[in-house]
Amino acid sequence: MKEVILAKCGELVLKGLNRSNFENILMNNIKQKLKDDLKSIRSAQSTVYIELNEGADPDLVVEKLTKVFGISSISRAGIFEKDIEKIKKGACEYLRDELTLAKTFKVESKRSDKKFPLKSPEISAITGGEILKNFRHLKVDVNNPDIVVTVEIRDNNAFVHGARIKGAGGMPTSSNGKAAVLISGGIDSPVAAYMMAKRGLSLDAIHFFSSPYTSEKAKEKVIELTRIISGYAGKINLHIVPFTQQQLEIKKMCKNEHMTLIMRRMMMQIAERIAKKNRCDGLITGESLGQVASQTLLALAVTGECVKMPILRPLVGMDKEEIVTIARKIGTFETSILPYEDCCTVFVPKHPTTKPKLSSILESESKIDMEYWIQKAVDETYVIEVSE
Ligand code: ATP
Ligand code: MG
Repeated sequence: MKEVILAKCGELVLKGLNRSNFENILMNNIKQKLKDDLKSIRSAQSTVYIELNEGADPDLVVEKLTKVFGISSISRAGIFEKDIEKIKKGACEYLRDELTLAKTFKVESKRSDKKFPLKSPEISAITGGEILKNFRHLKVDVNNPDIVVTVEIRDNNAFVHGARIKGAGGMPTSSNGKAAVLISGGIDSPVAAYMMAKRGLSLDAIHFFSSPYTSEKAKEKVIELTRIISGYAGKINLHIVPFTQQQLEIKKMCKNEHMTLIMRRMMMQIAERIAKKNRCDGLITGESLGQVASQTLLALAVTGECVKMPILRPLVGMDKEEIVTIARKIGTFETSILPYEDCCTVFVPKHPTTKPKLSSILESESKIDMEYWIQKAVDETYVIEVSE
C-alpha cells in the first residue's frame, strides 16, 4: 500500500504572501533532516507531502520530523484512489492495528476537491459504517474518541490517517535570519538557543573558554550541548574564544566588585564582532531577570550598553523551574548539570554590585585597554562545525 507522511505547517498559514517562501525553507530543512530517506517532497494547502525511499523506517522519520520547527502536526497517511469503495476498505486495512487497539472512534472528513461526488458528512458516515462492520468491538464517540480517522479528499488522491503526532511548532529555522548565541555549559543558554531557533533563527554559537581554569571536559560539554541544539537548529558553527588572559587582566586591573560586569561587557563586544563577521544580526543570551547579581535590570543595562546589535534574552521573564522543564524536554538538562566549571564562575568577585552605575563601571574599565583585549580575543577565536 502506498503511504505518505503529511506534515502540517502551523503558523505559516498566517504568513500571506510570504507563505510559499516559508514553505520552501521548511521543505529545505526537512530535506536536510531526512537526507537519503527522502524520495520526494512537495507542498500544497499548508501541508508538506513526504514520500520515503524503500527501506526507510517511517516511525524513525516521524520522530526526526518532531524536531523540525514550522511543523504543527505529523501523520502517516495511506494513499487511495478517489473512490469511496476503495477509501472505506482502505481505511479498515491501513488502520487495522490502531482500530483493533481502540475502543471508540470517529471519522472526520475534509473535501478540498469539491468535484468529489460525496459531501464530507457522507464520506464520514460511509467510512464509519464500514469500520463498525469490520471491528465489532468499536463504538462511535464524537466527543472523546480513542482514535480519529481522518479522510481527506485532495486534488489528486484521497488520504486516510489515524493518530496525529504533535510537531515542534514555531517557524522554520533560518526563515527569520541568523543570530549568535552566547553558550556556556549551564542550563539556561542552550534553552535560550532552542527558543530562538524555534522562532525561525539559524544559529552560530560563541563560547568563552578559560584554559587552564576551565578544563577540556568543560569544552566538550559545550560541544555536546551545541550538538543537541543542532538537532533542532541545523548545523551550528561554534566559535571558541580563548578568554583567560582577558580575565586575568580584568582581575588584576579593575575593582573587584566590578569584575563580572566588565567581563560581561567585554564578552558582549567580542561576541558582537564575531557575530558581524559571520553575518549574524543579533546576539542571544540565557539571562533571566534577577537570577544572579549580574542579571538585575541595572546590570543588564550596563552589560548591553556597549553593543549595538539587538540582544535577545528569551528567558528574561521565566522562572528557573520553567527553564528546567524546557531543558528536560529538549534533552540538554542532563548534560548541563555535569559538574564542570564555567569561565564566569572561576572569576567571581566576593561582593558583586547589584546596582551598578555605568559611570563607575566605565571608570574601572578605563584601567585596561579594552580595544586591544577585545580584538586579541577575536583574532584568536577558532571554529568547530557542529551537527547532530
Ligand atoms: P547559563 O545557565 O546559560 O550558564 P547562568 O544563569 O549561569 O546562565 P551567567 O553565568 O551569568 O548565567 O551567564 C549569563 C549568560 O551569559 C549565559 O546564559 C550565556 O548566554 C552567557 N555566558 C555565560 N558564560 C559564558 C561562556 N563561558 N561562554 C559564552 N557565553 C557565556
Ligand atoms: Mg552559567
